Amino acid sequence: LPKPKLSLKPTLHKSHNSTNVPSLLPATPKPQNDLPFSQTFHSLTSLKPYILSQHKPILLGWLCSIVSVYSLSKTVPKIGKFSTFIENLDPITLKNEGLAVGVLVLARLVAVYWQQAFLWDAALNAVYRVRAAVFEKVLERDLEFFEGYGGVLSGDIAYRITAEASDIADTVFALLNTTVPSALQLLAMAAQMLAISPLLSLISAVVIPCMALIIIRLGGKLRNISNKAHLSIAALSAYLNEVLPAILFVKANNAELCEYARFRKLAHDDLSAHLEKKKMKALIPQIVQIMYFGVLFMLCAGSLVFSSSSFDSGGMASFLTALIFLIEPIQGVGKAYNELKQGEPAIERLFELTRFKPMIKEKLDAVDLDQVTGEVKFCDVSFKYGDNMAYVLNGLNLHIKAGETVAVVGPSGGGKTTLVKLLLRLYDPLSGCILIDNHNIQSVKITSLRRHVGLVSQDITLFSGTVAENIGYRDLSAKINMEMVEDAARTANADEFIRNLPDGYKTNIGPRGSSLSGGQKQRLAIARALYQNSSILILDEATSALDSRSELLVRQAVQRLMENHTVLVIAHRLETILMAKRVFRLDAGKLEEVTRSSILGGQHMAWGSSFDCHCKQ
Ligand code: ADP
Ligand code: MG
Repeated sequence: LPKPKLSLKPTLHKSHNSTNVPSLLPATPKPQNDLPFSQTFHSLTSLKPYILSQHKPILLGWLCSIVSVYSLSKTVPKIGKFSTFIENLDPITLKNEGLAVGVLVLARLVAVYWQQAFLWDAALNAVYRVRAAVFEKVLERDLEFFEGYGGVLSGDIAYRITAEASDIADTVFALLNTTVPSALQLLAMAAQMLAISPLLSLISAVVIPCMALIIIRLGGKLRNISNKAHLSIAALSAYLNEVLPAILFVKANNAELCEYARFRKLAHDDLSAHLEKKKMKALIPQIVQIMYFGVLFMLCAGSLVFSSSSFDSGGMASFLTALIFLIEPIQGVGKAYNELKQGEPAIERLFELTRFKPMIKEKLDAVDLDQVTGEVKFCDVSFKYGDNMAYVLNGLNLHIKAGETVAVVGPSGGGKTTLVKLLLRLYDPLSGCILIDNHNIQSVKITSLRRHVGLVSQDITLFSGTVAENIGYRDLSAKINMEMVEDAARTANADEFIRNLPDGYKTNIGPRGSSLSGGQKQRLAIARALYQNSSILILDEATSALDSRSELLVRQAVQRLMENHTVLVIAHRLETILMAKRVFRLDAGKLEEVTRSSILGGQHMAWGSSFDCHCKQ
């Protein structure tokens, strides 16, 4: 990689397009309209059911707003009276009225506090439900969705569900806090103004809508800027999600400086986008202020020009007070509108995750296979990942008898893992079918299918949590059977090293099992597959990354599990291959059976083997 030139001070307004920082990663995640099945829709309609579910706190909050507006409209006329009292210097009335105003103001403060507390309660609870619903949908999405973007997507999804969902809470609160409370206050204050001076009210009625229009205009601009800011922070988050887990690789390649430069570029893009947004947000209230003075000026002019019958100074004070509290909700509506414009992209991106047509569908009359013997047939299976892609599997046939161990070898990228994905129904074949105990897997309940197939995959997946939780992963939501966990660990040759861990089976193994060695992770993964107690086990290059001592332990484990499972081993280690009864070579999308001697001799010899296939659904 060329060494990037770095300036140590972040400079504003510098174009970063000409930077010579190498860009191996896509700089930004795919923009939203590139995501599959994206649709345009109204963001608020999507939020509606979640907001409505919070009707109780919302009603309580609005009830408080009635109290607050009521005390406000009682206060306004008293303000006008005050100036008359001061002129007449009547200490007793002054004291009584002062006390009354004090009580009213206090009542309003308390009511406003509870109004906001209830409405935040509603907004945050609504967003909590949105998050949960979105994540539930994300979990349902086909593997294709996650694999299609080379992993960049997962950082982007994480960002949408965390930070962007938080932004939505602000939007929802602003909406709730302005709709009814603002309308109430607006009406109450307009009534006050009208009672004091219909003429000045008329002038206000002309000027104020113009003001609102300008605010709406600015809101539209803010929406675009906000969208840019969202994308830039999503890109930054996606980048961090990719590079931090790969820190070992980064260090080993002396790539810290290069990564630092890439980070700086993304962070700077984010800076620019956010700066623009903050400036816009700072500008809007100033414009509102100018307009506010404009209104005052118009009123003064109006009262001078038309002051015939006119009103006393007390009336003027009341009128202006009412005007201030009339403009307050208008400002609030403007702010809420901006908040909505800012929140819209976040809402759209969040709900976009939930809009999809599943590729892998379960039939209504799908059968629940209670027990299977473990016979597997691939019948003339063809598959490719996309319309414009080459066939990965092309008329593939394979028959694994119940309890048999079969090995599949072949060049990397030959489609071995694809075979596994098809058997687990993570993808469906384009043509042909896969049978388990002569049931087409497309007419079997997906959960039941996956229960019968245990997988030890190429890249081992362990989660932070205890050893027991990782082995008993299948029962994580129920109760983990410790006896079965220990049994599985013993069969997988893992019991000994687990007992030597600080807390034995209760040891927390860290994120992705980071505190374990490769061989230990491998054996934990095997123990987990055994705990599942499925009849069919797949070991997808499970022994590929092991040293010879670890491999011996793993091989013993595999040997044991071969005794009472149907096993499909995908391997390129000779020792592992030789444990299998029959060996197949996957090449050019087809399988050929190979003899043992031919493996050792490096050549292969095919012979035909035929079996019955009935792809009926
Ligand atoms: P193997 O496990 O034998 O190394 P794979 O089954 O993983 O091979 O991959 C077979 C071929 O399919 C490769 O050319 C690979 O690039 C391609 N492939 C795998 N997964 C995807 C995917 N999600 N999208 C597109 N192509 C893929
Ligand atoms: Mg593979």
